[in-house]
Amino acid sequence: MKALDELTFDNRFARLGDAFSTHVLPEPLDAPRLVVASEAAMALLDLDPAVAETPVFAELFGGHKLWAEAEPRAMVYSGHQFGGYTPQLGDGRGLLLGEVYNAAGEHWDLHLKGAGMTPYSRMGDGRAVLRSSIREFLASEALHALGIPSSRALCVIGSDTPVWREKQERGAMVLRMAHSHIRFGHFEYFYYTKKPEQQALLAEHVLNLHYPECREQPEPYLAMFREIVERNAELIAKWQAYGFCHGVMNTDNMSILGITFDFGPFAFLDDFDAHFICNHSDHEGRYSFSNQVPIGQWNLSALAQALTPFISVDALKEALGLYLPLYQANYLDLMRRRLGLTTAEDHDQHLVERLLKLMQNSGVDYTLFFRRLGDEPAALAVARLRDDFVDLAGFDAWAEQYKARVARDGDYSEEQRRARMHAVNPLYILRNYLAQNAIAAAESGDYSEVRRLHEVLSKPFEEQAGMEQYAQRPPDWGKHLEISCSS
Ligand code: AMP
Ligand code: MG
Repeated sequence: MKALDELTFDNRFARLGDAFSTHVLPEPLDAPRLVVASEAAMALLDLDPAVAETPVFAELFGGHKLWAEAEPRAMVYSGHQFGGYTPQLGDGRGLLLGEVYNAAGEHWDLHLKGAGMTPYSRMGDGRAVLRSSIREFLASEALHALGIPSSRALCVIGSDTPVWREKQERGAMVLRMAHSHIRFGHFEYFYYTKKPEQQALLAEHVLNLHYPECREQPEPYLAMFREIVERNAELIAKWQAYGFCHGVMNTDNMSILGITFDFGPFAFLDDFDAHFICNHSDHEGRYSFSNQVPIGQWNLSALAQALTPFISVDALKEALGLYLPLYQANYLDLMRRRLGLTTAEDHDQHLVERLLKLMQNSGVDYTLFFRRLGDEPAALAVARLRDDFVDLAGFDAWAEQYKARVARDGDYSEEQRRARMHAVNPLYILRNYLAQNAIAAAESGDYSEVRRLHEVLSKPFEEQAGMEQYAQRPPDWGKHLEISCSS
């Protein structure tokens, strides 16, 4: 276990120089205080969880103190936002504080979000409010616990600093961790500003640090791009299988590591709805739930365009062609598992599609359906779940097919079925209304609900005593909460 002053820094991105980032010091928050910390994330830095409660922790992550070895930098990038190119973006309200190694030799970027104005703040104030910081914290850690790759969150620090959004709120900071904070938009920036030398430096940096095995390939950059395609196909398959809607899949919010990144108006589906749009500024539904799949490919094409100086167009196209089949294979594999199936049959995709249509038409809770399906043997489970559907004839026909399919799958005990299905079907997900309750309490100074929700979501597959209220469908007020980008 390490104390806070024992972290080992190695700031490789900062060393790339001023073409890539600008030195900026964090702007401290007034009266910084710990809202919540993730023990699991602290463990990644070998930090003793007790240090989260010390004043120096809130001072460090509230922008008052800095390690001598940290080199805070605001990174420059650009990106396609809602389909249009924005020539210059960048860390407008976050700073890469530095890069550290843990005892296992793993590398982690420490990024402080809400740290004040930078040269890339444009019209913004450089701040993040408590509500959005809590949402990012809870989502990062909850996705990780579900097995969905994501940036991580060490802590949220609250404050008395006033911040204006639609109304006056209070500023907060979230300490985000990832192996890299490099986005598709980093490559786009150097491509569109016609800086081939810097772009090559960036590509070398990513290759050396994050895709060293691609060096062994005849065309390392192409191998790296293929890997990025694959990781994104796998990531989006997980989002779709678990009902996660990112909300702002701009290319500046896409990680070159294929992790969930930059949380805004995200949501987990309550009732299944393929057309769900979680971002109320997304009038055309560009980032609706089902559009995430083609948008993933669109974003990869935007990255491919930026890589044309290094890789032939034909090779890029071929690599892009891997996306959809890989997505489909991964998605179907996950959905089979969610249905409790251990073997593959050609017809399975149809079985999944028909179920989702029925769920859509009847507004069935996406998470609880799968959880309950595993509670009992297939025949009993479908008989009980039938009440949730309006189209009973449709459901009965599906249920017959499903039972027959389960029978062909194998002969396993009720216990085996339950254990296997519960291990992939969470009971607890970060529903918007649960986050909202925790935020409302935190805004009035009570952080216990955020902490409890974080705890519950850290073991989403395990039924936890006394936590039934976290495994319910939303109440009416919590069904259609509007979450904006203004966070
Ligand atoms: P996002 O929608 O959070 O991905 O942000 C898009 C761009 O706007 C990024 O370059 C952010 O750094 C910048 N940005 C968002 N909010 C703020 C803010 N409050 N102050 C300064 N820049 C911001
Ligand atoms: Mg962003």
